[in-house]
Amino acid sequence: MLENTQRYRDFDTLIDVSCVAELKQLHVAETTLTIGASVTYSELEAFSKTQYPQMNALLSRIASRQIRNRGTIGGNVANASPIADLPPLLLAFDADIQLLKNDGSTRAVNISDFYLGYKKTQLASDEMIASFDVSLG
Ligand SMILES: Cc1cc2nc3c(=O)[nH]c(=O)nc-3n(C[C@H](O)[C@H](O)[C@H](O)COP(=O)(O)OP(=O)(O)OC[C@H]3O[C@@H](n4cnc5c(N)ncnc54)[C@H](O)[C@@H]3O)c2cc1C
Repeated sequence: MLENTQRYRDFDTLIDVSCVAELKQLHVAETTLTIGASVTYSELEAFSKTQYPQMNALLSRIASRQIRNRGTIGGNVANASPIADLPPLLLAFDADIQLLKNDGSTRAVNISDFYLGYKKTQLASDEMIASFDVSLG
């Protein structure tokens, strides 16, 4: 939406992935926290409230409630803005990004290798972010 509101770009096609169940996973398995790409700030904020108060404090300061209810972690990272709020958190956590290709194959990229420059990432044109893995060990 920033491309639309700030740069006045129109898009012929928009693909809304915000309700894809596989992209909404948010759980801890053993010592890994998995955050699906379509998890919203508000969902992560609620999830972190009791167990991860510092993460919760950061999330509660991002934008407004309306934006937190709609904006996703995947969109924030993929957008590759240098002023985005989530990449510093995920960099501090040394998160791995799970990338999903359109043939169903996956690859993991550490967030420290993901960004190539301003608005440039390692994402290929046939890939999307599926989730983020944070090691709690
Ligand atoms: C009023 C307003 C206030 C804002 N305040 C803040 C703020 O305080 N902090 C902040 O960091 N940001 C802020 N933003 C920016 C933006 O809302 C966030 O970055 C948000 O998290 C983007 O998520 P989205 O789901 O809306 O992504 P979109 O805008 O839908 O997508 C952003 C980009 O990511 C791509 N993308 C989305 N999902 C995926 C995926 N799963 N895999 C690969 N590519 C994907 C899209 O194709 C697009 O290029 C604000 C925006 C607005 C309009």
